[in-house]
Amino acid sequence: MKFRQFSAPLVFAAALALGACGERAPEDSTLLTASRLYVSPEAPPVDAAAILLAGGKIAAAGLAQNIPAHGAKRLEACDGGIVVAGFQNSHVHFTEPKFADAAVKPAAELTAAMDDMLNRHGFTTVVDTASNLANTVVLRDRIGRGEVAGPRILTAGFALYPKDGIPVYLRDLPPDLLATLSQPASVEEALAEVQANLDAGADATKLFLMTPQGAGRYAFMSPDIALAAADETHRRGLPVLAHPTDIEGIKLAIEADVDVLVHATVGDGRTAWDAALIEQMRAGDVAVIPTLKLVPYEFGRAELPERAAQSATADVVEQVRAYSQAGGQILFGTDVGYMTDYDPTEEYRLMARALSPMQILASLTTAPAARWKEAGRRGRVAAGQDADLVVLEADPADDPANFAKVRCTIRAGQLTYPRDNAG
Ligand SMILES: [Zn+2]
Repeated sequence: MKFRQFSAPLVFAAALALGACGERAPEDSTLLTASRLYVSPEAPPVDAAAILLAGGKIAAAGLAQNIPAHGAKRLEACDGGIVVAGFQNSHVHFTEPKFADAAVKPAAELTAAMDDMLNRHGFTTVVDTASNLANTVVLRDRIGRGEVAGPRILTAGFALYPKDGIPVYLRDLPPDLLATLSQPASVEEALAEVQANLDAGADATKLFLMTPQGAGRYAFMSPDIALAAADETHRRGLPVLAHPTDIEGIKLAIEADVDVLVHATVGDGRTAWDAALIEQMRAGDVAVIPTLKLVPYEFGRAELPERAAQSATADVVEQVRAYSQAGGQILFGTDVGYMTDYDPTEEYRLMARALSPMQILASLTTAPAARWKEAGRRGRVAAGQDADLVVLEADPADDPANFAKVRCTIRAGQLTYPRDNAG
């Protein structure tokens, strides 16, 4: 390392001004100061901290007085907040018209759509749990090339449904779109669909295991089809996501060795997760995405009474609390893109009824990184990790709703929100 010589008073003044030490920073690096830094949910927070970013990675993070700062660029609009690792939303969809025709839509329009749904809320990685794969791959590529400001996208692409099992809530889709939904009738058909989806760039397989057909009837994916689809996905080192709908669907998911349930379960008083089910889920290393805010949202859309919504929400909160307490993995996710209300504040408030602030932070950072086998690359604010950061206005340990008070979002060292202040 090369040191430049400064007079002692100059170094002292620089350290005061920057809140970081006067040792020379690497070429093309950026310095961010933090009143408080959460390195990870497990580590004690560091006050008066600084983070040095270089080459899309974190070069150093810790007490500001130990971070080489001299010569680094600054993100002054982001300085002095509460810094945490970039968030993953593990359940989103790029199915709204604003994301369609991604190959020809002006970059500014797509960026505005990303801002509303994701960038402004601190998401630096998202899992698209079902969409038109070809369109989502174009979105992913345009973000990767820097044309569109957005998170890193992991996508399940086209989902698989039970034979004759399109859910009743999707029947209003345009007929040409409905015709593209995969409903394999055999193991061979399922394998062909899974292979085509993964070959075309999907990062996971999504299975609808149990789907409502109206009038209290359900369609079920045959267990041999579900298992074959999951095995093929695992053979490639990729995860399997499942939409369970109800407890029967969770049991099918465990049998098929599914990795992630994209919702908890809601409905008809049959939803209590007993100790035996929770132990089976935990033993199967199944992660759960609560999507708690979706419960009152759906009850409201169905014009069901407020009391019913509150009761169903309380049931799902209890599932999440019990599963977490048993050692089950929880991943933050909201189903935005399907849900058009993008504000995550209520999700954090509801999660706080089941989880501590640091457990919520884990569901946003370290838990999804581990689930995607990327803990060595992201999830913590530490040297060598991707420069994915969120700067919050206030400490989420005081109030988990503060996870929604995002001042800045940084993805791979680039400011994705707000870009107007980018220096
Ligand atoms: Zn969804």
